[in-house]
Amino acid sequence: MAPLIRFTSKGIYCPQADVYIDPWKSVDKALITHAHADHARRGHKGYLCHHHSINILKYRLGNINVQGIEYEKTININGVTISFHPAGHVVGSAQIKLQNNKESWVISGDYKIENDNLSVPFQPVTCDYFITESTFGLPVFQWEDQRVVMDKINKWWSHNKEQKVPSLISAYSLGKAQRLIQNVDHSIGPVLCHPAIANTNEAIIASGIKMKESHPIGDNYNNTEALFICPPAAIDSLSKKLGKSSVAIASGWMALRGARRRRNVEHGFVLSDHADWAGLNQAIRDTGAQKVYVTHGYSDIFSKWLNEKGIPSQTVETAFEGEKMVETEEV
Ligand SMILES: [Zn+2]
Ligand SMILES: [Zn+2]
Repeated sequence: MAPLIRFTSKGIYCPQADVYIDPWKSVDKALITHAHADHARRGHKGYLCHHHSINILKYRLGNINVQGIEYEKTININGVTISFHPAGHVVGSAQIKLQNNKESWVISGDYKIENDNLSVPFQPVTCDYFITESTFGLPVFQWEDQRVVMDKINKWWSHNKEQKVPSLISAYSLGKAQRLIQNVDHSIGPVLCHPAIANTNEAIIASGIKMKESHPIGDNYNNTEALFICPPAAIDSLSKKLGKSSVAIASGWMALRGARRRRNVEHGFVLSDHADWAGLNQAIRDTGAQKVYVTHGYSDIFSKWLNEKGIPSQTVETAFEGEKMVETEEV
């Protein structure tokens, strides 16, 4: 009996159901874990995703043939039961489970354990084989509680307001930006978003999800009380427009020494939409998987660690780029 999942040049493939998961080349049927660019690519004939991802996918990819499914609901294709489960990474993000009468697989996509107060929180899903990301799969990555990080951001913002300089923070347009909007202290001042973020917010709100108030940046660059949120790729041009401002970045990479300096920003807040070291380890234990495939990040080191801990593991080559230090597009 052939294995349920195969790793092919187009991506992760289930021959029995003839579906790919987050394929990086054009296929007929693509199951999409979430709408980030390295997982949801153009050119597939049909897309299936969590229904909260539909509007975001259409905003990013244009008029695609896409269907939505709810978490935990199952569909059956040629004897394979397929279901989507909350990954807690961004709105609509899902782990995808495939199961036949012999074995079960879960493809994690990207995930984080902490509740961001917008995405449906991560839920561990038991399986025989687990394909995990490992973006932050080193012990050095240990996230502080979200409230602690937001407190630091609020203090920085308030201080800038007192000094009469606008606050500009770099955050991915899908995920981090909304997490900031949901969790900062809106009594300090207005939250103004770059168009890429404002459009993403609109797509999310159009899916029936409630978000805290924010506005597109518009022409008002002189608002020293505002928190400007901007994707990494646009930070330099916006900071020029703002003139004197305090520039910060919210990213898991800020946990690395020197990362803030390399990005040439004054303030780095350690905030990631991926699981940290402890989160990855916990998530893997909770699946009860007999074998773990590691991709997307520090896969070699993390896989070695799992093997040493007695959890059989190997790395898999994928085209997932993950959360990179230098982004050309917000992923
Ligand atoms: Zn992602
Ligand atoms: Zn990714």
